[in-house]
Amino acid sequence: MDWTGATDVLRWLRESDPAKVRSLLEEADAVRRREVGDEVHLRGLVEVSNRCVRDCAYCGIAVSHRDLVRYRMTAEEVLACARMAARLGFGTVVLQGGEDYGLTREWVAGVVRAIRQETPLAITLSLGERPDEDLIAWREAGADRYLLRFETTDQDLYRQIHPPLPGETRDRFQILARLRELDYEVGSGIMVGIPGQTWETLARDLWRFREMDLDMIGIGPFIPHPETPLGRPGVPDAGPDQVPANEDTVLRCVALARLLRPDANIPSTTALATINRERGREHGLQCGANVVMPNLTPQRYRVLYEIYPAKASADEPPERTAEAVTRRVLALGRTIARGPGPRRGRGR
Ligand code: SAM
Repeated sequence: MDWTGATDVLRWLRESDPAKVRSLLEEADAVRRREVGDEVHLRGLVEVSNRCVRDCAYCGIAVSHRDLVRYRMTAEEVLACARMAARLGFGTVVLQGGEDYGLTREWVAGVVRAIRQETPLAITLSLGERPDEDLIAWREAGADRYLLRFETTDQDLYRQIHPPLPGETRDRFQILARLRELDYEVGSGIMVGIPGQTWETLARDLWRFREMDLDMIGIGPFIPHPETPLGRPGVPDAGPDQVPANEDTVLRCVALARLLRPDANIPSTTALATINRERGREHGLQCGANVVMPNLTPQRYRVLYEIYPAKASADEPPERTAEAVTRRVLALGRTIARGPGPRRGRGR
């Protein structure tokens, strides 16, 4: 497919002919098969802390959600999850959390070193907008990848939903560029259907994926959390130009991301599996995705990592989640990848 700019993307987002939309999704599936094959990479997600200094208007673990019981896993608990990921044959463990400075530079570096020593896993971190010194120390300790979604390219909307901390000078794009300089494999992404997000913005978001040197692209629907400013009734939106947070739009975005960045790693996200519990995961994998991140967080913590309500798999033991994901992947005629998976993007 030839692309000249975000207007081509916008045309596909606005396409109303179901046959043409189907052809887009099928083309993305074919490009996925040609570029990254039938293997699905399983990346075990460990939600290490629900403490956060940020006050993002979309997120259920934001600091102003005062009723939420907060937790921080111990190093031994995180290591036990990493061991489980290795035992289940996963190639990567992803340590994700709120932006929690109680997870100190030294603590995270120590956990990364221990996982490195004990397992063959690649290590992905997703711990927010941490200072350079932290990112350097963690890379030196052996972390391979870092995930930080830019959420939206509309800077006004972004500032409204993601207020900066006092004195903050770097935005997420600058941090993403820095992560690349530090030789991390870099992942980013967006939410689809943020109140105030227009089709034009969404087209620019997707086009930005093409311009950036990303190894991984995560796309999920915005899911309102009633305890957040964006989850309360009467939130202003973009009117007739508002992007809906529905499965059709997310799948189109996943397909477009695959076509714009043919060799990227693209997860079929938990948020997508949450808005269609029956088939969301599969639909993502059939429209361009090649990664799934089964949740390995111990159950007692998982229920508290409520970034949005009724998260898929929130109420089952980790082994069951892993087994169910594997079953779904195999039923599609796809295979489970072994090992950490190749590096994508120009930094290969
Ligand atoms: N603190 C780190 C950060 O901000 O990158 C990692 C954790 S954060 C909870 C991970 C991602 O969850 C965010 O990048 C955002 O896209 C997603 N998220 C948060 N609230 C959401 C919501 N209500 N609906 C959908 N996705 C949401």
